[in-house]
Amino acid sequence: MIVKPKIRSFVCITSHPTGCAAHIDEQIAIAKAAKKTDAGPKNVLVIGASTGYGLSTRISAAFTYGAKTLGIFFERPSSNGKPASAGWYNSAAFENAAEAEGIYAKSFNGDAFSDEMKAQTIETIKADMGKVDLVIYSLASPRRTDPKDGVTYKSTLKPVGEPFHAKNLDTDKELISEISIEPANEQEIRDTTKVMGGEDWELWMDALLEADVLADSCKTVAYSYLGPEVTWPIYKKGTIGVAKDDLDRAVVAIREKMQSIGGDAIVSVNKAVVTQASSAIPVVPLYISILFKIMKAKGTHEDTIHQMVRLLTERLYSDQPYETDESGRIRIDDWEMDEDVQAEATRLFHEVNTENLAAIADFAGYQENFLKLFGFGIDGVDYDADVDVEVSIPSIS
Ligand code: NAD
Repeated sequence: MIVKPKIRSFVCITSHPTGCAAHIDEQIAIAKAAKKTDAGPKNVLVIGASTGYGLSTRISAAFTYGAKTLGIFFERPSSNGKPASAGWYNSAAFENAAEAEGIYAKSFNGDAFSDEMKAQTIETIKADMGKVDLVIYSLASPRRTDPKDGVTYKSTLKPVGEPFHAKNLDTDKELISEISIEPANEQEIRDTTKVMGGEDWELWMDALLEADVLADSCKTVAYSYLGPEVTWPIYKKGTIGVAKDDLDRAVVAIREKMQSIGGDAIVSVNKAVVTQASSAIPVVPLYISILFKIMKAKGTHEDTIHQMVRLLTERLYSDQPYETDESGRIRIDDWEMDEDVQAEATRLFHEVNTENLAAIADFAGYQENFLKLFGFGIDGVDYDADVDVEVSIPSIS
């Protein structure tokens, strides 16, 4: 069939298999070109491996370092002639590329929050890898069923304490208007922490330690975001920020347990990029459009793959011990949080309106990036050609 983008608010409900594969190839080329030291990951588990930051980490582990990877994700295969989700096509293309170079890659499609997924993963590590030396935790999910009480918790994106009024970009209509969001109640704050906090990361690491499948000096990294003051009411100080604070609690507990194997647990604060998760957060697409304009002009623009290559080659596996901030976190958002970049971003954020959007912000770049997440708008892909939407992931089917 011929697949075209169908955008509904902040999601695209179609994905292009050839386009997603081309996007994977682009990322692989960047991962391969990276300079690295002799040290590096060998056996890697990526939880949330099919899109965004987790996918790019998987690509860098495999194609910068030749590491074996086991990827966990929750994606939709094609059914009734409808295209699969982008993460499904990404994972199929990733596995095909890894196989072509003789690099081990296996994937599980299902609920990472469940006990079953943890057990299945441990069995496979034992059978195929022995032990893992890097565990990446990169889930972004709107809900989580707690395996202990069977209750499904939902996350919300709301301010805490006070209502939030701010400029927001309607990415569909290209209009900037004011939004007002009422503060979350206690239940919503707790539930968001249940979904996006550190509890499930701890459960994963407890299970992996208990099963003795973590190699000596194993590292585990979870991803976080802080961002600029203009987004603080909805991000850093909002429900999602409270959940991210819980990661900072969990990392201390996990780090202590990892000492028994000489390992470490780290939170990495990454840069704002266009992903399926970030496009759903109010205000963030407008801020990202402005940020792109500034960072492209400065020559410091990065996408997920550049960030993750830098995290692995210049932080986790450089020949220097990694530097951390006062809270013990790796800061790979350093170029975004550069003082000049932030001063300019704040100035432009206050100036931007519907009329000057194209001049002040790189909304075209934002849209291009967004479409790419679903395999659209990629050079060299013939979008008028008939394409088979039924694609299998080698290790799954
Ligand atoms: P994303 O939406 O691109 O990826 C989410 C991944 O989680 C996908 O692989 C998806 O399949 C998987 N997933 C979701 N629910 C699952 C479940 N129940 N079981 C198994 N897999 C499941 O998101 P992203 O933006 O790459 O976010 C990843 C992490 O990076 C998050 O912790 C996020 O807060 C953080 N982060 C994102 C940004 C940003 O700007 N996007 C910036 C800094 C940090």
